[in-house]
Amino acid sequence: MSTYSVTLPSGATWTPQFVQSLDEAKCIGCGRCFKVCPRGVLELVGLTEDGERISVDLDADDDDEEYEKKVMTIAKGELCIGCTACSKICPKKCYTHGAVEV
Ligand code: SF4
Ligand code: SF4
Repeated sequence: MSTYSVTLPSGATWTPQFVQSLDEAKCIGCGRCFKVCPRGVLELVGLTEDGERISVDLDADDDDEEYEKKVMTIAKGELCIGCTACSKICPKKCYTHGAVEV
């Protein structure tokens, strides 16, 4: 087993750090990570009083929404390319990333 990495045109090695988890308790639903992810991995959801998850429009007006809190979720983790842009922009340090063994 070794760590998955790629060789860049320069000859340098890049080891992608794939998204592993997102701490919903820390997340404030600001949407910054969603905007920078180039791969459509993330999805904003609303958490209702009963813990139900409903889809949310990132630019929606909050006034008459039926959820209590918005949180980001990893909807399509398999599309992640390990760029860590989401983690770098997150103001609450919600993300955990890691290399993968191959
Ligand atoms: S590491 Fe990059 S591709 Fe993966 S979820 Fe974060 S921003 Fe998207
Ligand atoms: S940037 Fe961080 S706090 Fe903002 S929505 Fe994404 S995970 Fe949540």
